[in-house]
Amino acid sequence: MKNNLPKVIFKQMPLELESEMILEFLDTNWSGKITKKFPEFLKISKISDKREKKKAIKNLIVQIREKLKEKMSWGLKVIKSDWQRMEKDCLERLSEIIQTDWPEKEITAYISINPICPRFLDTWSFFVSQDNKNSNIIIAHEISHFLYFKKFKDVFPKIEKDKYEFPNKEWLLSEITTPIILNDSRMQEILGGKDGFYIEHRNLRIGNELLTKVIENLYINFVIKQKDFSSFIRESLKVIRRVVIKN
Ligand SMILES: [Zn+2]
Repeated sequence: MKNNLPKVIFKQMPLELESEMILEFLDTNWSGKITKKFPEFLKISKISDKREKKKAIKNLIVQIREKLKEKMSWGLKVIKSDWQRMEKDCLERLSEIIQTDWPEKEITAYISINPICPRFLDTWSFFVSQDNKNSNIIIAHEISHFLYFKKFKDVFPKIEKDKYEFPNKEWLLSEITTPIILNDSRMQEILGGKDGFYIEHRNLRIGNELLTKVIENLYINFVIKQKDFSSFIRESLKVIRRVVIKN
């Protein structure tokens, strides 16, 4: 195994980027998570002119940040030091489980007021909210996606990258696999806290069986018993392609 592990760099989310993200999210099914936490966004979400809307979002973010200033810098410090205590072990263990090396690449964690934490596979960056109590689990979850998709690309070089995103099956598999990896006893030794499946994924079924359970069993068989992560991905993708998703 290579010694050059990547490092997670913590930064305050640039205002421009944060405004764009919130602008995008306000138009999706996830908007409720934002407006629940910051009801002020409700009024803004009704503005029809896009430029005006973005300007209003930006102003509101500045206000929220000003109000949360101390909490945010404290949050940043705590999140960072909590993470750095387990960073090396966590990265090494993920590489062992997923059976691929970390490339020499920086990972950026943006501290954001946004309660939704998306990840960006192109830049290896993600958001984490300053008041998240499970920040280590969230960070481990997001960075495991980066390594997982590196492996996924090795196994399926022909699958296009846009398939890695919502709502494709490749994306779905990554979101079901990640909590299974983090809840593997080898990760639990380090993390000490459980990750969970998305609520929307908990009841998906293959015939009579829960999809999460089927994938878990494949994980036990291939990853734990046979130490063969590639076959796990291949078999799981076959299974997940049969799932019918009703909207
Ligand atoms: Zn995820």
